[in-house]
Amino acid sequence: RPAFVRTPLHELPTAVAERIAAGEVIERPVSVVKELLENALDAGAQDIRIEIRGGGLRLIRVSDDGYGIPASELDAVCVRHTTSKIVSFEDLEHLATLGFRGEALASIATVAEVTIQSRVRGSGDEDPAYWITWRGGQLQERGRRARPEGTTVTVTDLFYNVPARLSYTRAARTENGHIVQLVRRYALGYAGVRFSLALDEHMAVQTSGSGNLATALTEIYHLALNEMVQEIQASDGQHYVLRGYLGNRVLAQSSRQYINLFVNGRWVQSRILQDALERGYRSLLPKGKHPLLVLSLEVPAHEVDVNVHPAKTEVHLLQETVIAEALTRAIKGVLERSPALPEAVQFP
Ligand code: ADP
Ligand code: MG
Repeated sequence: RPAFVRTPLHELPTAVAERIAAGEVIERPVSVVKELLENALDAGAQDIRIEIRGGGLRLIRVSDDGYGIPASELDAVCVRHTTSKIVSFEDLEHLATLGFRGEALASIATVAEVTIQSRVRGSGDEDPAYWITWRGGQLQERGRRARPEGTTVTVTDLFYNVPARLSYTRAARTENGHIVQLVRRYALGYAGVRFSLALDEHMAVQTSGSGNLATALTEIYHLALNEMVQEIQASDGQHYVLRGYLGNRVLAQSSRQYINLFVNGRWVQSRILQDALERGYRSLLPKGKHPLLVLSLEVPAHEVDVNVHPAKTEVHLLQETVIAEALTRAIKGVLERSPALPEAVQFP
């Protein structure tokens, strides 16, 4: 480590502070895809198309048919802490959106080139679509160009000015793998939305947006899963409503990445909840195997704190113990009734 020479206490120049903050939100290409997907979902999109080239370093493009961005607001969407989702800190107690920090687009625009093209839903013929381009945290260009209602965000040259991040980024195949996992997850969490993911022109994920979770499971894993998954529903009428599907023993996987848990529509990583649901499977799965499942947990908005980590994948639940125990119990209950099947199926 180089020798440290203390400087007098001083405020970091904005550009430096922003590039540091960007690193917390945008760790690798999949983080960009996640933020753009969440924005599309927050905009009420019914159809989301994702295009990836070169593992996301060459191009990430997310197109939606959501409510769009008014032309008067387009210049500001890449400004840090600019959001249309909350007004006060108290709004976090009844959050209805996935985003709330107003940080994602600003972060992406700091470490890449971003073009945002949008047309507001219900805008007339005289109100065309507009676009702006940001690069390295600077607004570069803007213009008008026709397009259907909705928003397209195109990100190129990711990490061009962050050499350390660029060298940390793995081969396109690895980054693509993370992106496929993410899109599958959201397509399961939002079975009513049509998703498509093209990796270098190859269609990797495609769902119909039928609203039926069992259909989405089949579309995503390309298997007739119906007899291998068990529906689960539970609620205490107060702290939680639990819904979803549990893959049985036959679908046991060697990694935890097939555990899809959503809390109020947000895909979350929670050690405590994950352990609770794996406990529900205990004795049913061989050692070292993990379940395939998709669970959506609805809890009162004021009983969940999502403001824990920049990536917003960690949450704190007020009734964590109650919910964890309920999860274990509900899963056990369902699995005890499920039929046994012969062969094991492994996904790539
Ligand atoms: P946040 O989602 O926390 O508000 P972002 O930086 O992700 O912050 O986005 C900033 C703002 O840009 C959003 O609040 C929203 O108003 C607008 N926006 C971004 N993406 C879209 C989209 N796909 N459709 C409509 N509005 C969008
Ligand atoms: Mg956002």
